[in-house]
This record gives sequence, C-alpha cells and structure tokens, in this order.
Amino acid sequence: MNIALIAHDKKKDDMIRFTTAYQAILQEHTLFATGTTGQKIMDATGLTVTRFQSGPLGGDQEIGALIANNKMDMVFFFRDPLTAQPHEPDVTALIRLCDVYSVPLATNMGTGEVLIRGLERNDLSWRNIVRGEVPDNNME
Ligand code: PGA
Repeated sequence: MNIALIAHDKKKDDMIRFTTAYQAILQEHTLFATGTTGQKIMDATGLTVTRFQSGPLGGDQEIGALIANNKMDMVFFFRDPLTAQPHEPDVTALIRLCDVYSVPLATNMGTGEVLIRGLERNDLSWRNIVRGEVPDNNME
C-alpha cells in the first residue's frame, strides 16, 4: 500500500514515536512524506521514505495530487490544531481530497493507532479493487 506521512511541527515528535513504534508494519509498505517530516522519519527509523516538498512549499498539494489519482491508500496527517498554519488552504484541501476519494485518514495519533492496526490486518485490501487491481486472497 502507498502510505502518506505528514506532521505539523509541534506534532513531529509524535510522528517519530509513531513511526518508530510501528516500523515493522510500515516497512512492508511504500512510504511518502512531506519534506521535513520525511527526513526526520528516515533519520530516526531508517525507513525508506519518498519525500516531497515541505508542506508550506507545496508538499501537501503534491500528496493531494496522488490522492486525486487514486494512488494513495492511507494518510497519517498529524495536524496541530492550536497553531495557525501559513498553508491552511493546502491542509484543508488535502483532508477534503481524502473524503472525496474515501482514503482512510488519521489526523491524530489516536486514530493513527487504529488505522495502523487495520493496515497490519490487511484491512485495506479493498483499495486494490478501487485501484483496479486483482484482489488478494483475503478478499475472497
Ligand atoms: P513538513 O510539512 O513535513 O515539510 O514540515 C508538513 C506540513 O506542515 O504540512
């Protein structure tokens, strides 16, 4: 599955803890991230992450483009609800696109815990159908 990882500055420590704790699950998937988040994850965990621009410089929109092309299967977007973001329109647009395309989205670590367990259990196999691929055995 293609997984996007994004964290606002005050949530980056949460993201590092999260990706460290669930490294074994995440390493089975293809990971994408905004610039700074991705660099911090790679430095802390050794996971391979494809990095886009930093969020305020367009990274959220780059990930949004993948969602709009049905190429993103799950998004972990740890938002900071207490700090104004210069790229708030991009944040809103990314969340909106997840809803448009029914992409599972965690905007905080609590939901992230639930989604990652679903990922571990292969609950996302329905995404193969959405993407027009042959479903795996778990879909029988
Ligand atoms: P960053 O972007 O990972 O480059 O900090 C995240 C964001 O603020 O959207």
